[in-house]
Amino acid sequence: MSVKKAFTDTARFTSSDPEPLVAASLACGACLKRPVTVLLVEGDDVAVAISWCEVCGVATEVTLNPEQLLRIAMKPPGSMLIQTVN
Ligand SMILES: [Zn+2]
Repeated sequence: MSVKKAFTDTARFTSSDPEPLVAASLACGACLKRPVTVLLVEGDDVAVAISWCEVCGVATEVTLNPEQLLRIAMKPPGSMLIQTVN
């Protein structure tokens, strides 16, 4: 089984940005498809949103600040399924 490279990025939206911008920040790093499921892993200072692309199988890790984490947890963009891991 081959392991594909994970893309890492830092989210750039603010809590008042519109939904499409939030969704776009979580998109696949390779093909820009929006993820169906996003795993939120909370750390001490930052959180990481991890998703796997259905199309190309690449993992994308996006670093979130507490404000961004709250925005995604409270108002998930589109039909994304958000799973939180503490
Ligand atoms: Zn992709």
